[in-house]
Amino acid sequence: MDVFAKCSEIGARVRDARAAGMYPYYRVLSSAQDPLVWVGDRELVMLGSNNYLGLANHPEVKEAAAIALAVYGTGVAGSRLLNGTLDLHVELEEKLAEFTRREAALTFATGFQVNLGVLSSLLGRRDVAVLDALDHACIIDGCRLGFGRTVKYRHNDMADLARKLGQISGGSGILVVVDGVFSMEGDVAPLPEIARLARAAGARLMVDDAHGLGVFGESGRGTPEHFGVEHEVDLLMGTFSKSLAAVGGFVAGSTPVIDHVRHKARSGIFSAAPPPASVAAARKALDIVEREPERRKQLWENARYLKRELDTLGFDTGKSSSPVIPIVVGADEDVYRATIRLHELGVFANPVVSPAVPQGRAMIRTSCIATHTREHLDRALEALAQMGRELGLI
Ligand code: PMP
Repeated sequence: MDVFAKCSEIGARVRDARAAGMYPYYRVLSSAQDPLVWVGDRELVMLGSNNYLGLANHPEVKEAAAIALAVYGTGVAGSRLLNGTLDLHVELEEKLAEFTRREAALTFATGFQVNLGVLSSLLGRRDVAVLDALDHACIIDGCRLGFGRTVKYRHNDMADLARKLGQISGGSGILVVVDGVFSMEGDVAPLPEIARLARAAGARLMVDDAHGLGVFGESGRGTPEHFGVEHEVDLLMGTFSKSLAAVGGFVAGSTPVIDHVRHKARSGIFSAAPPPASVAAARKALDIVEREPERRKQLWENARYLKRELDTLGFDTGKSSSPVIPIVVGADEDVYRATIRLHELGVFANPVVSPAVPQGRAMIRTSCIATHTREHLDRALEALAQMGRELGLI
């Protein structure tokens, strides 16, 4: 049996989808992640970017990145452990620790690598990771790389979490790991209840706040700030690839734990450090997060407007309570059809099918940017309404 045999199957499916004009992936953009983007000769309203605060094309952020590029070059050619630590990394980590009100922080080249490294290095043979069933793929993969056991509870079901925690035998170390904001459904984890249950079970709590950082909380410190439970979250993970306008990620927590991760996380030790331009961009973006709370306010105004209008049109927006707003469609093929039709009508939105969401709950994922104007959103809503009527969704 040829190990490559399986590849022709996906190839054939992609060819068929392309031939039918129904392939919605790897669309090629030729502009920045702004409220309007260019794809080929079409200008589309962008409802599919995680550039929540609109900082990925901000002049000050770009200037900071350009200066770092000029001073430090394009890459660091090695890992943080050996030759790849710049003063820029250390400054950003100190700033992240201060911002998140934790003792220490550690950066990685991507958020995905943060979760791989943190979880695999913390979960020993006698440990158990307790995950929400809809946790992000990199949390699941990080646990798979660790030696511990993984237990999942039903999405946001606190009775099930209590049951699963109760079934773990004494003597095991327990780490509960949840997304602060669930990246596809746009709903949030009930952190106060999760923290209470974790504490009662003697478990530690880690929150992946990739979509919460900069977005939730009075000061943008994320879902733990929003819920007033920052001191009950032992480890906070964040990414630079959304509100912080770059690429990279970090984990923040107590000094002993961050020191452990710094010396044990293989995705950090055996992989190159985040490049200078990204580090400087994230650092500047963090300044703007602190300096301009009005961006967050505008993002929320946009999100509330979009959700209200989608609900009024009759779309099923699930349980979203964030700037990530799904439109539940049902079957995978219908989502492809809807995505392609939206593209034709001038809107870029993302198709989400199983296994990212359960079978039969395929959705169009929309998300707001602080710099969307009412006119952008109205233009998108007109297209969404037409698509929804044509496909019988509303
Ligand atoms: N966690 C969550 C919840 C995410 O949505 C993502 C990215 N989509 C990541 C982690 C990984 O982040 P990065 O893009 O920095 O690899």
